[in-house]
Amino acid sequence: MSNKSYSINQLMQIQACTNCQACVEACPAVAGSRDGKLSAAFRLTELGRLVKARAGLWRRLGFGKAPTQKALRAFGDTVFRCTLCGNCRQVCPVGLDLTGLWHSIRQDLVASDAYPGKIDLIRENLNESHNVFGEDNEERAEWVEDMPDAPDHGYVKQRAEVIYFTGCVSSFFPLAQRIPIAVAKLFDAARIDFSLLGEDEWCCGFPLLGAGLGDRIDELVENNVAAIKAKGARQVVFACPSCYRMWQEHYPNEFEIFHVTEFLAGLLKQDRLPLQKLDLTVTYHDPCDLGRGAGTFEAPRDIIRSIPGVRFVELANNRENCSCCGGGGNLEMIDAELSANIAANKMKAVTATGAQAVVSACQQCVRTMTTFAKRNKVPVAVMDITQLLHQALAGEK
Ligand code: SF4
Ligand code: SF4
Repeated sequence: MSNKSYSINQLMQIQACTNCQACVEACPAVAGSRDGKLSAAFRLTELGRLVKARAGLWRRLGFGKAPTQKALRAFGDTVFRCTLCGNCRQVCPVGLDLTGLWHSIRQDLVASDAYPGKIDLIRENLNESHNVFGEDNEERAEWVEDMPDAPDHGYVKQRAEVIYFTGCVSSFFPLAQRIPIAVAKLFDAARIDFSLLGEDEWCCGFPLLGAGLGDRIDELVENNVAAIKAKGARQVVFACPSCYRMWQEHYPNEFEIFHVTEFLAGLLKQDRLPLQKLDLTVTYHDPCDLGRGAGTFEAPRDIIRSIPGVRFVELANNRENCSCCGGGGNLEMIDAELSANIAANKMKAVTATGAQAVVSACQQCVRTMTTFAKRNKVPVAVMDITQLLHQALAGEK
C-alpha cells in the first residue's frame, strides 16, 4: 500500500471533510446494512488515519505504527461494500470528489493485497474470456437467435454507419437480453444502418475500474476501438450507461457516442418511430451512471412522455437525487445480501408512486430490480426504456 495512490489534491480532500454526516444520510449502503462503517464519512476518517500511519516521518517521530494487513483488510471490507453510486458526492456540501477517492482507495487496496477474493474472478474472467461473466465470447450475439425475423447477417455486418455496443450484461444474461432485442427492433423500424461487433466486442473495462484494476483497461480499449474502425462506423450507441461513461471518460475521442436514450429521443423528434397508445402508469429510475454520472436526465423522460396513453409519475427521489438500485460497483459479487437490501429499499420507493411499471435505462438496474421483484412477488413490472418504446411501436403487440 502506498500513499502515492493518491494525488496531492485527494490527500487535501481527506482533511477537508467537516464530518457533517450528509453523506451518511444519503448512502444506500448504510441504509441497506444499518452499518455506519460503510459511509463516506467513516471511510475518509479511516483513510486519513491509514495515510498518516504510513507516512515515514510520522512513524519516525514515534506516532503510531504502519497499518497491519489485518487492518487493511478490515478497511477493504467496508470500501468494497459500496455501489459507487455517487450519491455521497452529490450531497457533500464541501464538494469533495468522493467517487474519485473510492476508485483510488480500491486501486490502493488491490495493490496492497487487501481486497475481497471476488476481485480475482473479475480479473480472470476479463483476461481469459474478455467478458465479466467468463462466458465464451464467441456467444456475444447469441441473443439474435431469439429473434425469428432477424436478417441473415444476424446484425453482425461487414460495414455499418452505426455500431450498437451491447455490453456484457445484455449480451450474456438471459433476463437482460430482451434489451438488445428491443434495440435491434427499434433500429430496424427507423431503418438505421447498424451492426454489432459480435465476438470482436470485449468488455468496455468498466468492471475493472470498480475492481481497483484501472491500470489494466488498455488492451480492452484498443481492441474495441480497432473493431469499430474495421467496420467503418462513425457513431456508437450504448444501452448500458456504464459502457457509455467508460467511453466518455476513458476512450479516445474518435467516434460520436450516444446513450441509446439520446439516440432514440432524436429518432422520435424526426418522426422515424411511429407509436401506438399504451395504457400504463410508469415511473422512471435514473441509473447512477447515466444520471449523476453522465448528466443525462431529459432524454429518457422525453421518450416516456412521447408515448401516447402513458402516464408518468416521478419517484420521490429523482434525477441527481435518485437512489441506487443496488447493482453498481460490483456489489452484487462482493455482498449479494446488501445488494438485495438496497434493491428492497428502491422497490419500496417505486411501489409508493403507485406506478404499474418502473422503467430504467440500464441493463444492470433492470436485472437487479427484476430479480428482487420476482423473488419477493412485488406487483410492479420492471423494464428497460427500450422495451417500453418497443412495446409502443406501431404494429407491435
Ligand atoms: S458530506 Fe462531505 S463533508 Fe460531510 S461528512 Fe460526508 S464527506 Fe465529509
Ligand atoms: S458511492 Fe453510494 S454507496 Fe458508495 S459510499 Fe457513496 S453513497 Fe454510499
